[in-house]
Amino acid sequence: MADREVDFLLIGGGMASAHCAAELRKRGAEGSILLVGREPEPPYERPPISKEYLRGEAERADAYVNPPSWYEENGVELLTARNVMSLDTESRTAKVQGGEEVAFGNALFGTGAMVNILRVEGAENEGIHYLRAFGNSDAIRADAENAEHVVLIGGSYIGTEVAASLTAKGTSCSIVAIEEVALSRTFGTDAGRWFQELIESKGVEFHGGEELEAYEGDGRVGAVLTKSGLSIECDAVVVGAGVRPDAMLAQRSGLEVDGAIVCDSKLRTSVAGIYAAGDCCSYESVVHGRRIHVEHWDVAMQQGMHAAANMLGDDADYEVVPYFFSDLADWVSLEYVGPAQDWDEEVWRGDREGGEFSVWYLKDGQVAGALSVGRSEDLAQARRMLADRVDVSGSREAIADSGSDLAAIV
Ligand SMILES: Cc1cc2nc3c(=O)[nH]c(=O)nc-3n(C[C@H](O)[C@H](O)[C@H](O)COP(=O)(O)OP(=O)(O)OC[C@H]3O[C@@H](n4cnc5c(N)ncnc54)[C@H](O)[C@@H]3O)c2cc1C
Repeated sequence: MADREVDFLLIGGGMASAHCAAELRKRGAEGSILLVGREPEPPYERPPISKEYLRGEAERADAYVNPPSWYEENGVELLTARNVMSLDTESRTAKVQGGEEVAFGNALFGTGAMVNILRVEGAENEGIHYLRAFGNSDAIRADAENAEHVVLIGGSYIGTEVAASLTAKGTSCSIVAIEEVALSRTFGTDAGRWFQELIESKGVEFHGGEELEAYEGDGRVGAVLTKSGLSIECDAVVVGAGVRPDAMLAQRSGLEVDGAIVCDSKLRTSVAGIYAAGDCCSYESVVHGRRIHVEHWDVAMQQGMHAAANMLGDDADYEVVPYFFSDLADWVSLEYVGPAQDWDEEVWRGDREGGEFSVWYLKDGQVAGALSVGRSEDLAQARRMLADRVDVSGSREAIADSGSDLAAIV
């Protein structure tokens, strides 16, 4: 016998669960909602923790998805600093840390992602950080304030964003990355080089084509060594080596998992009445015609809301084109729609030197993704063309001509 029963159990205290709860109430759901999160904070947005929060320009509360009082005011029970330990899909009950057994009607997995840990020699030294939560950001800021030099491992978003934030606050930084060019995995070599030249012009050293071999230190990290023999002295390290979906509880509970929690096009997992949203899941995308997994703030929000609507009977496919943004200090903001798995052509539009351009990634004559620096209006059109699978094979020149009307490409 369960200790109690709820109509909606939301597992994980991040963007996906918080927006699912808000959407349930917005749509008039009157049933009981229980949101269980591992962290001590109410659900918050993570982007600021590598940006304005890391730089000390914002408070924790600025990042909260809802003010703490919202939960009580809206009849959403929020259990923080608590794990969902196990879930029985037969009896439809979950065990919450502390021992309480909760029966549920519908459930959402919004368990997010975990950072990849690099277990190399010297990894036990102090001063080696990962970044996923407020506490990590606090520790990095404290170390960076006293550091002469910080090394970032990883040339993607976390590495470049943190290097930008720390450099902007006066700490000198180097990035060590397996890829030859910063941000090239998502944006390709040409656009990646544009971003790399920008961060180098601000003082960040970039070492591409370098793989971490070991850390040197005597209790505290003193240097980073790479496989090619490069050695960089430092007082702190921040690792941004990607994340993997947190599908552990789902796997233990017998849900289908392929690295991520497997969902259909409606964000339904393999068990009826249990949905998944955000970083923890992969889903059958009707827009892309393939299964995709992304780790984007906007997607976690939209999918949390979409799962809520489907719990209430909408039964609709999730058809939003994934959107991502990143800021490198106040140097540049970028936006991206996609994700392009691969592409056979890049078309540039706008003023590359002036820092106002979009890059269009085309595959088989269709838009597979698009990047914007200062041209959000282009991205709206790229999103439309991607969703509608518009044949743009005869429109390359129109796309490249920044004076042309993209709305005319149909
Ligand atoms: C430093 C940083 C910067 C970022 N910047 C950007 C950006 O600029 N743009 C962008 O688009 N995206 C960005 N992202 C990605 C974005 O933040 C994520 O895509 C988003 O947070 C995913 O939300 P989520 O709800 O799926 O998961 P999460 O935010 O990870 O939340 C899941 C929560 O569930 C908890 N949990 C897991 N298992 C259990 C359990 N069994 N019981 C209870 N709780 C559990 C986890 O501890 C976690 O607190 C950034 C991420 C980081 C870390």
